[in-house]
Amino acid sequence: MDRRSFLRSAALGAVAMASPVSFSAFGQPTRHRGRNGVLNLSFRPYELQLKHAFNLARSSRKTTPDVQVQIEYDGIIGYGEASMPPYLGESVDSVSAFLSRLDMTQFSDPFRIEEIHEYLDSVAPDNRAAKASVDIALHDLIGKIMGQPWYKIWGLSPEKTPYTSFTIGIDKPEVVRMKVDEAKPYKVLKVKMGLDNDKELVEIIRSQTDVPICVDANQGWTDKEKALEMCHWLSERNCLFVEQPMDKSMIDETAWLRERSPLPIIADEFLQRLPDVRRAAGAYDGINIKLMKSTGLHEAYKMAVLAKALGMKVMLGCMTETSCGISAAAQLSPMADWADLDGNLLISNDLFDGVKIVDGKIALSPDRPGIGAIPLV
Ligand code: MG
Repeated sequence: MDRRSFLRSAALGAVAMASPVSFSAFGQPTRHRGRNGVLNLSFRPYELQLKHAFNLARSSRKTTPDVQVQIEYDGIIGYGEASMPPYLGESVDSVSAFLSRLDMTQFSDPFRIEEIHEYLDSVAPDNRAAKASVDIALHDLIGKIMGQPWYKIWGLSPEKTPYTSFTIGIDKPEVVRMKVDEAKPYKVLKVKMGLDNDKELVEIIRSQTDVPICVDANQGWTDKEKALEMCHWLSERNCLFVEQPMDKSMIDETAWLRERSPLPIIADEFLQRLPDVRRAAGAYDGINIKLMKSTGLHEAYKMAVLAKALGMKVMLGCMTETSCGISAAAQLSPMADWADLDGNLLISNDLFDGVKIVDGKIALSPDRPGIGAIPLV
């Protein structure tokens, strides 16, 4: 969908408070009144435009497919989204197919989150981003009904939000220099690694700034001895931790590395949902929770609680997302040791005004109920 047709759809969505509008899978608005007293779900595809090509150890791209979701209940609208970086296996088609199968009108009480998640899991396995889009919209709706942001509903302290890191992707030296310059307001940089020039990349960054870095190898390191050597090398260069150093299947090698590494080892690709947290204990020091993997906030909160109970570190991450998904994740950020919530800053066509970063730190607003994101149009 191009921007003009999206704006047309969004403008129709804006009047949904008075007269709910639902969207077919490919953005053609179908006007009808949502039923009162039940949950009315609508969705439309959207393509996120990246400011820079996103180069990882195993892929490169300039856009991310996305689906925007609304749940309307008695004239109040909750917003959600599914972001689908290709390596996760979901697409606009698969998310639209999943959402089309849902009958949310069977629910007359939006507060029954547990029951609604059981229903989502009963419809089809996997489809985590699709389920997250419903979960985020539901949380937004509930928060708006209560008139409170979710960090307050969970009882979290807004002053405990962490700094968020800003991602420096794998790129040519001159582009890396430009990105480091762009990242000046941030107090932590996240460096994507996993190619042959890893050390060169860090040296370039270190020639420009002393701020702490965290490293994400995205499963790119293939040898545990070399991974250990890198961990020692990075620990001497103000690195906070290393994320997913080796392939997610290399559990024994990762446990070996963790025993010897001077830096904490964090699981990302290794884990998706709640049962994976216990599996990660022993091989990893901490977990990277992302709403698009965890099926949304409900399970993300449980994962954070379990990880802490197991003595593990909690990191909060994201995909490239609009400020809708990022603001939702930010509500949980006082529980995180580290946050990497920059996905909205990496796109040029955000749809929401959401959580702010002040002096590199996540700033939650007490005046914005729900997930704290307001549509721009
Ligand atoms: Mg990662």
